[in-house]
Amino acid sequence: MTRRILTLVAMALTSMPAVGDTPAHEAQAREIYASIVGFRTSEGQKQVPAMVAYLTDVLTKAGIPASDITTIDSGETKAMIVRVPGQGHGRPILFSAHMDVVDARPEDWQRSPFTLLEESGNFYGRGTTDNKAGVAALISTILRLHESKQKPARDLVFGFVGDEETGMLTTKLIATHPWVANAEFAINTDAGGGLLDDATGKPLIYLVQGAEKTYASFELMVTNAGGHSSRPRADNAIYQLARAMLKVEAYHFPVMANDLTRAYLGAVGQAQTGDVGEALRRFAADPTDAAAAETLSRSPEFVGTTRTTCVATMLDAGHAENALPQKAKAVVNCRIFPGIPVETVRDALVTAIGDPGVAVTAMDTPEASPVSEMRPDVMQAITRAVHDKYPGVPVVPYLESGGTDGKVYRTAGIPTFASSGLFSKPSEMYAHGLNERLPVRSFYEGIDHIYRLAVELGGAKPAQ
Ligand SMILES: [Zn+2]
Repeated sequence: MTRRILTLVAMALTSMPAVGDTPAHEAQAREIYASIVGFRTSEGQKQVPAMVAYLTDVLTKAGIPASDITTIDSGETKAMIVRVPGQGHGRPILFSAHMDVVDARPEDWQRSPFTLLEESGNFYGRGTTDNKAGVAALISTILRLHESKQKPARDLVFGFVGDEETGMLTTKLIATHPWVANAEFAINTDAGGGLLDDATGKPLIYLVQGAEKTYASFELMVTNAGGHSSRPRADNAIYQLARAMLKVEAYHFPVMANDLTRAYLGAVGQAQTGDVGEALRRFAADPTDAAAAETLSRSPEFVGTTRTTCVATMLDAGHAENALPQKAKAVVNCRIFPGIPVETVRDALVTAIGDPGVAVTAMDTPEASPVSEMRPDVMQAITRAVHDKYPGVPVVPYLESGGTDGKVYRTAGIPTFASSGLFSKPSEMYAHGLNERLPVRSFYEGIDHIYRLAVELGGAKPAQ
């Protein structure tokens, strides 16, 4: 089907009654999802503007006034903001999703990455989890709110980011847009969600992202006059850098904790047995428990939640096999605990290396983002929405070791909580990877999750 026909189908579905077990809004969301997976919105493909045009078309045909839709052009790509005006009681709430994807090479996939395919209970396609299900959930929520003809108590704004996977420049432009800048908080669909037991599929825990570690890479550089390799000098850039790298390996950043990480580790510890489970529970109760921290530091899954980590990731030295190296450089990638400035981490590396001949410089311009203090209203709304489908599952905040738009919003002063509503097994995480997929059931649960949050937090009446 061409996109135009898909659009018409999507619009026809808007006013259709439920067919069988599928409510009309679910069929509508699925059509939108199928259409947007069809846009190859990866860096360099320039398809984000076409996707914005498609979404604008869907919204305006459903009767959303053009004055409540705005687009932002960053020069490289586009973003879109949609406003659902409220009755002026309270500051706006932002809901966010990103339209861009990490590229996928069709020749590497078993199925075409840019055609939505439903097979054996899964939706396949690039962006099915990251983050086009979120985009579909936002659009679906806007359409349902519009159809219900209920004005929320306060403005709801929906931000569609165009470059989350690369520069996040449009995220910055969204965060400072007049519709958004005064937002009381944000719900980000791009992280947070439930974990299912790998073996049994039983729901274990639901995680709400309340903070992100700062991503920062440092270049370690040694320079030397070099010379002929038949006449070795006492100093050598490669040996000097190698000594520095061993110092970086041996250095461990201090153990840290905050309310958010303690809540997370404690809740995960309840579900874990063995040494790690015990260490999790002890550390959550008392972060100064050195033995517990030591056990967690050996676990790749938990070390990142207990401290700043830095690790060597790249190496480059010398220019000819018969010449003494004039340059040796390495990249050390750090994930910095919230609240710690990038400069403090650089200083710690410089001190650990203890050699003024090794220049340590931050690459790009890493920005530290603050922790969003958990709000009872947000946690209660999320918990209610989760328990509706998964009664009794613990709902806890967590610290993200990766990166999302949340850090940009938090830095701009908008506390941000990521909650996708999607449940999945850890072994079935395919974001950024081959054959990305999302369980069909999760897709519809995610659509409903965001709608419920918008209704409850925005103070609107649910549609019938
Ligand atoms: Zn994402």
